Amino acid sequence: MPLNPAPSGSLFMVVAPSGAGKSTLVNALLAQDDAIRLSISYTTRAPRPGEQDGREYHFASVEDFLQRREAGEFLESAEVHGNYYGTSRLWIQEQMKAGTDVLLEIDWQGAQQVRKQFPHAVGIFILPPSIAALEERLHKRGQDDHQVITRRILAAGGEIAHAAEFEYVIINREFAIALSELTSIVKATRCKFPQQAARNSSLFAQLGIHANLS
Ligand code: 5GP
Repeated sequence: MPLNPAPSGSLFMVVAPSGAGKSTLVNALLAQDDAIRLSISYTTRAPRPGEQDGREYHFASVEDFLQRREAGEFLESAEVHGNYYGTSRLWIQEQMKAGTDVLLEIDWQGAQQVRKQFPHAVGIFILPPSIAALEERLHKRGQDDHQVITRRILAAGGEIAHAAEFEYVIINREFAIALSELTSIVKATRCKFPQQAARNSSLFAQLGIHANLS
């Protein structure tokens, strides 16, 4: 079978309960790897201090969000901690077409929806070293009020119950180790046969390597 020359970016889904340190890990990965792009989600949650529209999220009213959802603009969407969140379908399609690696920071419900459409998506679940550490991080962050923190702690168990649905689990005990594990997963995925073949199609053809990449 001939090689499939279509560019093929990898899709990474990073999921964790609030307070596991997911955003810090993801931001550190993005800072050292400019070949991977983060999908900016839409949300109806109010911006936290320091958050900017279009940087952390596209902040939307409930009405605007529901209209977009109705119009099929989201690859996946879910209600998390009482707010709506969704991933832009068009943006993801554009990146995939261009062969760019994309990272989604979403919840388990969104990951299940993405998996149905992209069965090769790579799922990474970040665990805290303990529930106490998770609570401590949420309080230290100091960006949410007490009620919101309590709600998120109660929801953590529900999120963690889905860890077994993911290919990879990282325990964020020590930041540097967790980051190197995340980086290793991204690098290993890029070395998979289909990704290498798509990125290096002329080399593979020259070397006479043929495979069915369906
Ligand atoms: P936060 O409000 O703390 O930024 O995010 C709350 C939760 O919503 C996190 O678990 C985060 O991963 C999830 N989330 C953020 N964006 C999306 C999205 O586009 N889709 C889904 N399903 N979940 C999201």
